[in-house]
Amino acid sequence: MIKVIGFDLDDTLWAVKPIILRAEKLLDHWLKENAPPLQYDSIAMRSLRGQVLKQTPELVHQITELRRRIIHEAMLRSDISGPEAKRLSDAAIEIFLAARNEVSFFDGALEAIGQLANSYVLGALTNGNADISRLGLTPYFSFSFSAEQVGAPKPAPNLFSRALAHTNTEPHEMIYIGDDPVLDIDTANNVGMHTIWVKSKKVKSQGCTAPDVIVSSVKELPEAVSHIASQHAPQDNL
Ligand SMILES: [Mg+2]
Repeated sequence: MIKVIGFDLDDTLWAVKPIILRAEKLLDHWLKENAPPLQYDSIAMRSLRGQVLKQTPELVHQITELRRRIIHEAMLRSDISGPEAKRLSDAAIEIFLAARNEVSFFDGALEAIGQLANSYVLGALTNGNADISRLGLTPYFSFSFSAEQVGAPKPAPNLFSRALAHTNTEPHEMIYIGDDPVLDIDTANNVGMHTIWVKSKKVKSQGCTAPDVIVSSVKELPEAVSHIASQHAPQDNL
């Protein structure tokens, strides 16, 4: 019997690239006004990533803190003093996060989520730093875990194990929905969950395992879930 539905977020419920680019643009604008000596914009800061990771390799999966440290490093290199660089990079990351969570949901995504929330426990499992409370999803989602919280991103099974433990659910009682055939579909299948692949036209490759259902739009999710649930309904013994 299906009890829990987990969602990937980025590129499953909205397109992530335009959001990150917009967030970086807003961040650059804010930095120009608030840290005028800074000689780096978001694109130039990418060149510092390797350097920062060399100093602090443990940040490789802590994407928010890594971004803050890169901003911090760019400030130090622009002769902004240590305490000021700390204060400004803390404020800058908040500007980025606020913009990063202003998403445009795919058509029908909120309706599908609202409908599924009537019958199932819903939650998010993401490698990114989208935040369900900032996204207005808390009325529907009862859990949300990020790779930063569980210490390893998909394809590690950590996010999935955490969701199962949190909801006290067996893998076969959970459906996972995602856009990435490997990170989402293969990983969840290998854990023993049911899967729905939200397949964008841009994705040409497949994973090693087959999803239970493939959909081309999130609008089809309630029907896809019903299909899986009907195949795994409890046996009527009467
Ligand atoms: Mg995704």
